[in-house]
Amino acid sequence: MKESMNHEEFPTETPAVVTCGLPYANGDLHIGHLRGYIGADAFNRSLRTLGQQSAYVCGSDMHGTPVAVNAEKEGVDPEAFALEWHEQYEETFPQFNVEFDNYGHTHDETNTELTREIVRTLDEEGHIYEKEIQVAYDPDADQYLPDRYVVGTCPYCGEKARGDECDEGCQRHLEPGEVEDPKSSITGNSAEYRERTHKFFRVSAFEEYLTEFLDGLEGTSNARNQPRQWIEDGLQDWCITRDMEWGIDYPAEATDDLVLYVWVDAPIEYIASTKQYTERVGADKYDWEAVWKDEGEIVHVIGRDIIQHHAIFWPAMLEGADYNTPRAIAATGFITINGKGLSTSRNRAIWANEYLDEGFHPDLLRYYLTTTGGLQQDVDFSWDAFQEKVNGELVGNVGNFLYRSLLFAHRNYEGTPDADVSEEVASRIEGAIEEFREGVNDYSLRTVARSALELTKFGNEYIQRNEPWKLTDDEPERAAEVIRDCVQIAKATAVLFEPVAPDKAQQVWEQLGEDGAVADAHLKDALAAPPRSFDEPSELFSKVEDDRVAELDEKLEAKIATASEDDVTTEDGEDEESTSEREAADEAPTAADLEPIADERISFEEFLELDMRVGRIETAEGIEGADELVRLEVDIGVETRQIVAGLKQLHDVDELPGTQVIVMANLEPAELFGVESNGMVLAAGEEADLLTTLGDAGPGTKVK
Ligand SMILES: [Zn+2]
Repeated sequence: MKESMNHEEFPTETPAVVTCGLPYANGDLHIGHLRGYIGADAFNRSLRTLGQQSAYVCGSDMHGTPVAVNAEKEGVDPEAFALEWHEQYEETFPQFNVEFDNYGHTHDETNTELTREIVRTLDEEGHIYEKEIQVAYDPDADQYLPDRYVVGTCPYCGEKARGDECDEGCQRHLEPGEVEDPKSSITGNSAEYRERTHKFFRVSAFEEYLTEFLDGLEGTSNARNQPRQWIEDGLQDWCITRDMEWGIDYPAEATDDLVLYVWVDAPIEYIASTKQYTERVGADKYDWEAVWKDEGEIVHVIGRDIIQHHAIFWPAMLEGADYNTPRAIAATGFITINGKGLSTSRNRAIWANEYLDEGFHPDLLRYYLTTTGGLQQDVDFSWDAFQEKVNGELVGNVGNFLYRSLLFAHRNYEGTPDADVSEEVASRIEGAIEEFREGVNDYSLRTVARSALELTKFGNEYIQRNEPWKLTDDEPERAAEVIRDCVQIAKATAVLFEPVAPDKAQQVWEQLGEDGAVADAHLKDALAAPPRSFDEPSELFSKVEDDRVAELDEKLEAKIATASEDDVTTEDGEDEESTSEREAADEAPTAADLEPIADERISFEEFLELDMRVGRIETAEGIEGADELVRLEVDIGVETRQIVAGLKQLHDVDELPGTQVIVMANLEPAELFGVESNGMVLAAGEEADLLTTLGDAGPGTKVK
C-alpha cells in the first residue's frame, strides 16, 4: 500500500543508505533506544536480502547541551565525557547484532569539515541571515543559557519545557527566547534576557518545496502528517547558532563565540558517516556521492519526537545545499514498560547491559521489538509478554519446526533427501518471499518477520498432515518427498528470518551444511537446493520458565522502588536521552495531571440510555484532506456502521482491521470532511488508546 508513486520499488539500481537517529553520547542505552537501532538494522539487512545495494551508517552525537550539561555535572571536559560514551556504544551495538557499516561521531574531522562546507554553501546561496534576539542569561553563573541550560513553560501548550523542545507536552521544537518563565538549569535562578546577534536559516522559504517533498515521502504516516500540520500553521525560520563553546564553530571569523546548533551538525553526520564508509571500502564498492548527491535511496529511522528535525529542517538544509533528500522517514513509537512510560530517572527501563546480563540471546529481543507492534505504534515491554513471544512463536513454531524436520532428515537421510520440492511447498515459499518483499516496500518489519514465522507455522502443519514417520517403511519415496519439502522450508526460513534474527538464521544456515553467511543470501536462495548432507541439528531456542519471569518482574519492581526513594531525596530530574529514541512522554499520569471527575452525577436510567456495543473494525482507510481522520467500517453485530475516528496519526491504519472496539451506537450521526460518521469508537486519552474487551464478547454485545 504505497502512498507515493514517485519511487521505484526496492530493489532499485541506485544504492541505498539506512540511518538511525544519533544517540546523544551522554548515558547508557536502554531498550527504548535499541528499538530504533535494531529496526533500522533489520531494514538494512532486508534490503540486502532483496538484492539492494545498501549501507547502514550512524554515529554518536557529541555536541549540544545534553552532553555539555551532563559533562559539567560530572566536572569533566565535554569531549572526554562524550568520547567515553561513544566508545561504549561502539561495543554495545554489535552485542545486539546491530552492525553499522560505519559508526562515526559528530566531533570527528569528516563531520566538522562537511558541516562547515554545507553551512558555507547555505550562506552563499542566501539561505542564512543575521538577527538580534533575546537570549537567556544566568547572571550568577555568568553565562548564556542555550537549550537545555534553561527550563520553563512551553508557549504553545503550557507544559514544562526545555529550552529547545517541549519534551513533555506538544513536542514542538522551541526557538531561543520562546520558553516562558525561563530558569537556569545550573543555578535554578530566573534567567535574564540579553540581546545577541544570531544566525538564522530561512526555513520559511522552503514551504513550497517541503510540501512537495512530503507528498513523495515514504515511511510511516506520522512523518508526513505532523509536518503537513506544521507547514499549515506557518514555518518559522530557525536559529542555527548558540552561545556556547562546545560544538562546531560557525564558519566565519566574525562569529568566533558562536557554535552551530547541535541539530545542524547532527544529521550531517549521516552524510559524513557514509563518506567515511566509502573512504574505507572504495567508491567502486559503495559511492557516498551516488547516494547523497545523485539519486540514491535515503532511509531515515528515527524516534517520533524528532520528526520536525528530519522532515522539515533537514530536507530544507539538504535542498538548500544542493544535496539529495530522503526517500523515506520511518518514525517509531515509544517503548512502555509494563504499560507505563519508560522513565530513566525512575529506573523504569530495561538497560542494554541488564538484558545481556540476564543471559538472553539478542535475537530474542530483536524479534520481540520488531514484531510486537507496527513501527509507529508504541510497544509495551513486559517479561510476561517476552516469555509468551519466545515460548509461543520462537520455541513453539520456528524452533520446533526447524528442529523436528532437520533431525528427521539427518536421522533418515543424513541430510537432504534425494527428491524434488513439491509444487505446493514451492508456491508456499514463493508466497512468503512475496510477503517479505511487500514488507520491505511498506517499511513494515512486522510483515518481514511474519513471512518467516508463518512459513514455519505452515511447515509444522505440513509435517503433521503428512506424517512422514508413518511413511518411511511403506512409502519411502513419499516420505523422502515430504522431508525434502521440509528441508527447503527450513532453508527459506533462514533466508527470510535473517534480517530480524541474524545469529539464529546463521545457525540454521550452518545446520543445513551451507557455507558462508546467510546475510549474503538473496531471496532467490530461499528456493535453491540445500547441500546434500548435514549433521545432527541442535535446538535453536529454549523456553523462558515461569519462575524466571517472576524473578525478573521482582527485580524490575525493586529497582523502580529504589529509584523512587532516591527521587525524594535528590532532585535529579535530568534524564539521559537520545536524538533517536526518547522515552515515552506518557508517563503514568499522577492524580494532579488528570481531569477532575465531573461534579454532576447522572441517574442509572440516564446511563441506560447510552447504547454501547462491542464492535469489530472491518476496514480502515484515511480520509483525503483530513490529517487525523480514518473512515472505518465497524461490524456491531446487528449491522455494519461507517464511523469516522481521529486515529490516523496515532495508529497504523493498516493494522486496525480485526481490532475489537467499543462503539457508542446511539450517538447522533455527524458529518466530518463530507463523510458521515454513524457512531463513535471509544478511546482513552491523547494517544487515542482504543477501548476493547478482555473476554470473547462478540460484535453486537451490549456494554452495561
Ligand atoms: Zn508544548
